[in-house]
Amino acid sequence: MPNIAENIANLKRELTNYNYNLVAISKTKPNEMILEAYETGHRDFGENKVQELATKHESLPKDIKWHMVGHLQRNKVKYIAPFVHLIHSVDSVKLLKAIDKEGKKCDRSIRCLLQVHIAEESTKFGFDEKELEDFLKTGELENLKNVVVEGMMGMATFTEDKIQIKREFEYLKGLFDKFSSAFNYDNFQLRELSMGMSGDYKIALECGSTMIRVGSSIFGERNYG
Ligand SMILES: *Cc1c(COP(=O)(O)O)cnc(C)c1O
Repeated sequence: MPNIAENIANLKRELTNYNYNLVAISKTKPNEMILEAYETGHRDFGENKVQELATKHESLPKDIKWHMVGHLQRNKVKYIAPFVHLIHSVDSVKLLKAIDKEGKKCDRSIRCLLQVHIAEESTKFGFDEKELEDFLKTGELENLKNVVVEGMMGMATFTEDKIQIKREFEYLKGLFDKFSSAFNYDNFQLRELSMGMSGDYKIALECGSTMIRVGSSIFGERNYG
């Protein structure tokens, strides 16, 4: 059994010189393990599946801030819309519109990050630069009153090549800065750059990440691929 409190303390000690928000990625892990982290005062947890997120929200303390970090299907937005704290994985305009629609039904503004495809693998979801720029230029975002775009998210290629990872994170940081200054809508206020996981959070923070999503370094390895 991993010592979760100790893992969190070690992580924080290692990162004392950085400013960041930590999202503990608890996917596949039982409620008891989440509560161990909760007992240390930690409140931000992330999941990558709607069903698991909704079930855990239902059974765990209500002051937990739940982050959705996995690919989200439009027809499933309704299950998390009433409570989700931040959706990191908005990878299409259609999805953003679906989130807006569900936000309206719950009479809330849902906080979103735009996921950008920065990895070499074609399997990772996300916008590309041109697609995102074209959408932002239309000004359509301003009509989506029930979403607030607060930042961007990206996942680097799964590789040992630190130079490549760094290049991908730097590219996303560049886009983040460029779009922050290029567009100014009421519901487009970029302040979070979500990048970095257990294998690469240090590199991500060096490249300007403000939010790291750490799973296995806190909760131990997962038993699936
Ligand atoms: C699983 C997952 C993480 C955490 O991965 P670890 O390598 O276990 O830290 C971060 N972000 C996303 C989107 C994930 O799906």
